[in-house]
Amino acid sequence: MIEGFKLKIKRKTIRLASNQYLINLYNNVSTKSSPYIIIIVYHRIGPKTDEWSFPSLNPHVFETQMIYLKKYFQIISMDEYINLGVQLMSKYNSSRFAIITFDDGYRDSYKNAFPILRSHGIPATIFLTTGFIGSGQLFWWDIIRYMVWNTKIKCFKNDIKSYNLSLNLEKTHLIAQLEYMLKCIPESKKNKIICDLIDYFNVELPNDLGKELILSWDEVKEMNENGIDFGSHTVSHPILSNISITDAIYEINQSKRDIEQKIGMPVNSFSYPNGQPLDFNPSIIKLVKKSGYKCALTTKQKSVSLEEEKFELPRLSSGLDLETLRLVSSELYQDASYILNLKDKWCDSFCCNI
Ligand SMILES: [Zn+2]
Repeated sequence: MIEGFKLKIKRKTIRLASNQYLINLYNNVSTKSSPYIIIIVYHRIGPKTDEWSFPSLNPHVFETQMIYLKKYFQIISMDEYINLGVQLMSKYNSSRFAIITFDDGYRDSYKNAFPILRSHGIPATIFLTTGFIGSGQLFWWDIIRYMVWNTKIKCFKNDIKSYNLSLNLEKTHLIAQLEYMLKCIPESKKNKIICDLIDYFNVELPNDLGKELILSWDEVKEMNENGIDFGSHTVSHPILSNISITDAIYEINQSKRDIEQKIGMPVNSFSYPNGQPLDFNPSIIKLVKKSGYKCALTTKQKSVSLEEEKFELPRLSSGLDLETLRLVSSELYQDASYILNLKDKWCDSFCCNI
């Protein structure tokens, strides 16, 4: 009974919080003296042209989201946030700020997002997994996805269940289960299992798929000369809490060096692969600080508070439509989420972390 009542309040709050009139009214009466800051995380921007790949945000929807954010927020770069802090408000005479970020280094950030960002004069930061840039290699989750969708094998059995791979829904469930399981185990074990899965599914990967999907260094340089900043997302995208300290030092330091060498500018920000609470720990945070970064970003779903630890900055997922972004980016929704403690469960339904 009480659970049903809570659910009713949550649904009503979400409906109210997504109403633009109420959002504006709430912003106007808000008397907070500190700035309201949100950081949005994107992964892939592009029309969906195949069944197997990671969910993409349609470029047209991305542009409507950028127009919306530009209208209601002052969009700033990560470096401005790092350098200015509370002085942001006096510099811009605004109290609402948004920062745009992309994780991983997919090429569609160059092909589809960059032209939109440039035409609207919007700064952004792309977090690169440096070992993949220009290498032609694919991320492990893309390999698994491609294999499951293209294998001729009709059935996959594991300890949990059996999957009928002639059904698309079962393929999707198997991918979700494999991705979840592979994120939870030590990297060495993960890589061994991925090799076994590649042998088992027996699918030839197209030669140029990696180059087609992932940025080249020339594209990185071109974007860097036109308003896009770059941060590090490690060399090989391991879950940092699943590897040794020696390996973590390499991943955190080398990726910074790789980018600085290519673009000739200091790299100040770091994004934890997958970015959830169990994916990093105090030792990892210490290493990131020691490596010379000035901030690090997670995928914890909330707005930034000024007292927020700069090495555990939260980010909001954009969702796949304007309505979701309008909802999660609203101060009304963030405040209501804090009071009703509803954000984590609700956000799960539209978050895609990698
Ligand atoms: Zn990632």
